[in-house]
Amino acid sequence: MKYTIAVIKGDGIGPEIVNEAMKALDAVGKRFSHSFEYRQVLMGGCALDATGEPLPEETVNICKSSDSVLLGAVGGPKWDTLPGDKRPEKGLLGIRSALGLYANLRPAVLFEPLRDACPLKPNIVSEGLDLLMVRELTGGIYFGERGRRSGKGGEEAYDTESYSAYEIERIGRTAFDVALKRKSRLTSIDKANVLESSRLWREVMHRLSGEYPQVEYEDMLVDNAAMQLVRNPGRFDVVVTSNMFGDILSDEASMITGSIGMLPSASIGVGSLGLYEPIHGSAPDIAGKDIANPLATILSAAMMLRYSFSLTDEANAIENAVYKALTNGYRTSDLASEGAKVVGTRKMGTVVAELI
Ligand code: NAD
Repeated sequence: MKYTIAVIKGDGIGPEIVNEAMKALDAVGKRFSHSFEYRQVLMGGCALDATGEPLPEETVNICKSSDSVLLGAVGGPKWDTLPGDKRPEKGLLGIRSALGLYANLRPAVLFEPLRDACPLKPNIVSEGLDLLMVRELTGGIYFGERGRRSGKGGEEAYDTESYSAYEIERIGRTAFDVALKRKSRLTSIDKANVLESSRLWREVMHRLSGEYPQVEYEDMLVDNAAMQLVRNPGRFDVVVTSNMFGDILSDEASMITGSIGMLPSASIGVGSLGLYEPIHGSAPDIAGKDIANPLATILSAAMMLRYSFSLTDEANAIENAVYKALTNGYRTSDLASEGAKVVGTRKMGTVVAELI
């Protein structure tokens, strides 16, 4: 099959790590007889420098007409002092909304060879960790009504958490469908003992669970979920939650794995078009030095194959190659431990591509 992929390399280490993800995709193409056509477009600081806009219209159009989008990272000190609407991050929010991406998928996987990087006691993660957080991305308190007013105690500020049944059902279906592609277990996280929006969330999720009898479903309050993540993280498979709870819990979950350079993410919407990127930023402190860890971006490409193209064997081939590279002792300097074969960005990408 032939797939077109819009490629946003971005700023800082973005170009270096995306090049290695493309190397992995090309190796998959060769092994499984697919061809990937890359359309490189600008976003973030490099787009500001070239066009004066963080998200040029041409970028949006090319992304919309591609089968999927691969992104490195944007931003850096050079653009930090620009006004809000000219900041590179504006490009990120803009592209997510232009593509209608309402679900953020973030796996947190503890790779056995990196077990030492996990900050939890070994007995807590003895059964490993492989969970997927599904976070609602375009609703809730981050987009609700907000403002300042004067109240009894003087100046007040408020933000509103609001979800429609439609928005909950949409993210719920995504989570149930994703659970079917994994171990078929889903935990929905809310605060239904206090919040009305969470009570509607729970009602809709229960309704949906009737449509997915193959998925083992449970509710959990967010405070308990925060605790369970550090007490028994191996109990989770897929977790679905609102925008704000997901923002906080997904960082907690990723911290458990111990390395920011290992974690991919996907933002998806209606249809198969998605945006795939590492969770880390553009790391300007190490840009251009060939030391950035490209594995989070390579694993983001694997997520693209799985979720946008439904190419499960191909996605597994990338993930297994990453696993083997680590088992064979290859490490970029952020993961270096005693006895490791410390390699640069390009070499790590080549090792993974060869193992594919
Ligand atoms: P960061 O994630 O870029 O870096 C945090 C630390 O982790 C740094 O020490 C960095 O060297 C290290 N690091 C990050 N990725 C790494 C990798 N692949 N390999 C090895 N080490 C890695 O976060 P920051 O420093 O807060 O932000 C830097 C810039 O990135 C800012 O301009 C910020 O706005 C932007 N940013 C962009 C995104 C995105 O594009 N999605 C996300 C977060 C931050």
